[in-house]
Amino acid sequence: MLNLAANMASYQRIVILTGAGLSAESGLGTFRDAGGLWTKYDLEDIATPEGFARDPVLVQGFYNDRRAQAAAAEPNAAHLALARLESEHAGALLTVTQNIDCLHEAAGTKGLIHMHGELFKAWCLACDSRQAWQSDIAPETPCPACGKAGALRPDVVWFGEMPYRMEEIYAALGTCDLFISIGTSGSVYPAAGFVAEAARAGARTVELNLEPSDGASLFDDTRHGPATQVVPAFVDELLKTKNS
Ligand code: NAD
Repeated sequence: MLNLAANMASYQRIVILTGAGLSAESGLGTFRDAGGLWTKYDLEDIATPEGFARDPVLVQGFYNDRRAQAAAAEPNAAHLALARLESEHAGALLTVTQNIDCLHEAAGTKGLIHMHGELFKAWCLACDSRQAWQSDIAPETPCPACGKAGALRPDVVWFGEMPYRMEEIYAALGTCDLFISIGTSGSVYPAAGFVAEAARAGARTVELNLEPSDGASLFDDTRHGPATQVVPAFVDELLKTKNS
């Protein structure tokens, strides 16, 4: 393990990528958790536009359950440590999350891109409006903007759809000098390709994950363990070096 922290003062532009593992200790199951909500369904049925067209009741029910579960969750020590890093880092810092919960915001992170959308927003396919959404969506729920029933969907990115704000993300990756990937399996593209993009830009790359991810060998440094332990420890180290 190289002494990464010793270089903190030289890191000006940080990009952080987070995935479901970051929210696991807040009680939100990951994609792969045995017996978790995600594993009870076929992804083709609940996370594709075709699945939604086939059975909107099933899909809305799945996301209604996830919205209710996420509404009851609290940010954990790892979310809080990342918000602290953002507020104390003098240079640029962008957090890009694949998570559709809102635990980064609840922890205080400001510079955030939800590349896979947000559970707490609804998108109307009739009038293309998006609005904050807290409650269940039923197939007959009317759009508050245009009044049409049957046109609202969760504003989340499904397989086969384009993730949000990719230009901004690639611009940040192309100029970052430190890239930190946290709690993501490295199995869902395009996020899985971000480490290679950052490395091409000359960034130091670090993985913080419960176990080595599918792409662990692509990182300069890896630290493995639960996010609530490895993330605060890593942030403390970075900030201690910077402030000393
Ligand atoms: P993933 O489930 O594929 O991978 C999660 C990773 O987190 C795994 O590598 C696992 O080892 C690691 N992990 C599990 N518990 C951890 C912990 N306590 N500390 C640190 N790491 C831990 O999830 P992904 O890579 O985010 O990609 C899958 C897709 O599933 C994404 O598109 C995401 O939008 C979606 N998803 C989101 C949520 C959420 O919003 N909370 C939850 C589940 C899935």
